[in-house]
Amino acid sequence: MSDKNNVSVPQPLRETMLQYGQQWLDEDDIAAVVRVLRGDFITQGPAIQAFESKVADYVGVKYAVAFTNGTAALHGACFAAGIGSGDEVITTPITFLASSNCVLYQGATPVFADIDMNTYNVDPCLVEQKITDKTKAIIAVDFSGQPVEIDRLNMIARDNGLVLIQDAAHSLGASYQGVKIGSWADMTMFSFHPVKHVTTGEGGVIVTDDEHFYHQLRLFRNHGMTKDPDEMQQNDGPWYYEMQSLGYNYRMTDMQAALGESQMNKLDQFVERRREIAGMYDRELAGISGLVLPYQQKDGHSSWHLYVTRWLPEVFQGTRKDWFEALRQLNIGVHVHYIPVYLQPYYQNLGYLRGLCPNAENYYETAITLPLYPKMTNKDVMDVIQAVRRIALQFSSHIKL
Ligand SMILES: *Cc1c(COP(=O)(O)O)cnc(C)c1O
Repeated sequence: MSDKNNVSVPQPLRETMLQYGQQWLDEDDIAAVVRVLRGDFITQGPAIQAFESKVADYVGVKYAVAFTNGTAALHGACFAAGIGSGDEVITTPITFLASSNCVLYQGATPVFADIDMNTYNVDPCLVEQKITDKTKAIIAVDFSGQPVEIDRLNMIARDNGLVLIQDAAHSLGASYQGVKIGSWADMTMFSFHPVKHVTTGEGGVIVTDDEHFYHQLRLFRNHGMTKDPDEMQQNDGPWYYEMQSLGYNYRMTDMQAALGESQMNKLDQFVERRREIAGMYDRELAGISGLVLPYQQKDGHSSWHLYVTRWLPEVFQGTRKDWFEALRQLNIGVHVHYIPVYLQPYYQNLGYLRGLCPNAENYYETAITLPLYPKMTNKDVMDVIQAVRRIALQFSSHIKL
């Protein structure tokens, strides 16, 4: 609160801070993990394959490869796509660091295309403008759970001979033109971090219909090593294993996979509850002058990882920091997603300039993410609504306090 208004510090609306995201674990999830612990395999056992099949079936693709986390999975996808030194990969600046760090891991160059100011997803026209003869792939992100225009990106990728990777860390359970996210791109990544739709603690997966990518992904997560005699260049005997490329140890454990398989049973329920909460926000926050609620594209059906609001500086006094801190003082755990990736010091040192993506930078100055996760009660949701109304009123420049 700016002291010029001379208003006393607001009392918190709640006893404790409402988090912005959180997992939901039940006894059956715990039992699934314990079963693994009592069994013969705690890593690379049958639970991994069961989990992979479950994810692949759910999204309607042939193959899934589980990784230690979503970032490792993206790294694997970049390897499988053949991305290497000298290549360029186009992605969005409004994403978590991993979407472009995975390009750097492979010695290639991330190229940032600006976002659309309605959806905050990368604008396919601007992606097309960034294509050069060095471009190898596109990494598209379904920001907040709303699918990117993946049909247009698919056409752009096909016309230009590019690999299309979908970072769907936010959009497990979402669909585009009635088809689940997972089968649209050449490879699609889902994350199982606790704030995502279902969790394995840490975990990620790549799904694909392409047998070659599938094969490369499996090699990559296990040191680039094969034990299949049909694939070997030589064979010294039954003990022999062969390393054919440089891979990593990115293997998920069976405890994690069992947790993930159990959580997948509840995915639709979780997504439904997220949609319900987003609907409550939409209804109850509509009509607050200067508050921009999430715009939803007709073709997409969001799985609502995040509920992002924008606060127009023309209407509210102060800055985003003031509004954000005022909401936090009421014990509402708001967040900001995301700082444009290339504004990070590491990227600035690589030579990316401020001003590169003006929409992304404008977006960043005014965005506030409200809490959203299935375990929120209706009371929690109403607390958020009440807090937003109160803070919006308090900072509204039309009101003289
Ligand atoms: C969470 C997330 C990742 C990385 O997933 P981890 O499992 O945390 O490594 C990548 N991209 C986006 C957009 C994410 O939100």
